[in-house]
Amino acid sequence: MIRCPDCGARLAEPETCRERFGACLTLEYLHPATFGAVHHLSVMCYALQHNQYAKAAWLDARDILGRCVREDLTGAVFLRLMRERLGTKRNGSISRGPKLEGVSGIPWSTTVADVATADPAAYEADIRRWAASVVTDSAAFEPR
Ligand SMILES: [Zn+2]
Repeated sequence: MIRCPDCGARLAEPETCRERFGACLTLEYLHPATFGAVHHLSVMCYALQHNQYAKAAWLDARDILGRCVREDLTGAVFLRLMRERLGTKRNGSISRGPKLEGVSGIPWSTTVADVATADPAAYEADIRRWAASVVTDSAAFEPR
């Protein structure tokens, strides 16, 4: 077993979170109406846990993910929110620039390693569970 240095997921060697997530993305692109319905959630969960957003964008994405979970927003509404919050002020890049410190110290209860990919219904349920847990687990996190 290996432990992801970013999100703490336990994975069987030589698998990595990046490979697990890549397999999720492939399913989402191949089956946009089923697996792909939760694409906006899976991308935010993965990027937040692996600290891929620049500082301000990480906090914005956490807020938007919280709204997605509480209000059950569709991918289209989510994209509009992301563009409004992140699109104009950063030349289109939400990952460029300094990252938040301390994100790797957040104890994540659910990771990409917990997502079942066998069928679309289980996949969607797991992604929604993952999203809710990311919101809950990061609620107490305050940027330094
Ligand atoms: Zn990871």
